[in-house]
Amino acid sequence: MGGEVATALQEVTARLAAAATRAGRDRPPRLVAVSKTKPAEAVQEAYEAGHRVFGENYVQELVDKAPQLPADCAWHFIGHLQSNKVKTLLEGVPNLAMLETVDSEKLANKLDSTVNTSGEESKYGVEPKDCVALARHIHESCKHLRLAGLMTIGMPDYSSRPENFQCLSDCRKAVAEALGLPEAELELSMGMSGDFEQAVEMGSTNVRVGSTIFGARVYKS
Ligand SMILES: *Cc1c(COP(=O)(O)O)cnc(C)c1O
Repeated sequence: MGGEVATALQEVTARLAAAATRAGRDRPPRLVAVSKTKPAEAVQEAYEAGHRVFGENYVQELVDKAPQLPADCAWHFIGHLQSNKVKTLLEGVPNLAMLETVDSEKLANKLDSTVNTSGEESKYGVEPKDCVALARHIHESCKHLRLAGLMTIGMPDYSSRPENFQCLSDCRKAVAEALGLPEAELELSMGMSGDFEQAVEMGSTNVRVGSTIFGARVYKS
């Protein structure tokens, strides 16, 4: 692959920095390099270029891939998580850094009773009006979870509009007020290949970029 991943990573990093500067922010958001469907070799190339934070959507794929990579990778799980896969995920990926897709109290409880992690939420998801209740549950009733923030995928086709980003930002404000937390302590995970610069300008602290770094995904039918 001739350094293509490293080059793309550098480009995305530069675009993130520029977007942060345009938005008057003092530092760019965290970049989650989304490696779903891509081989461990591609992730290794990004790792060798200095990147450490990676995202995956499928439990089995992550459980297979993570052990093939250095232990100081920080994995974010960004797919829909079924309660019956929690144990497999947590045991299979000791270096899981963040779960971005906690979308029900049931799942939060299951995670809480299974091990210590960090929490957040998404598209399978939770309605904006229900964000406060779920965040409160995670924050106040799940003593092994740490509420990290909120996450959106945008529209069902994964495109996003400014309204989607604004909506997530409004949800964070409501959650912060309800829980008595500073807004800055809650992350906004938003922005993917097609719209991460706009997401940064609207306050994203965590962008999830896949195809722009690793190339288009090919799904077998
Ligand atoms: C696949 C995926 C991404 C990355 O999408 P790209 O458009 O390839 O950047 C980000 N977030 C989630 C939840 C995804 O499933």
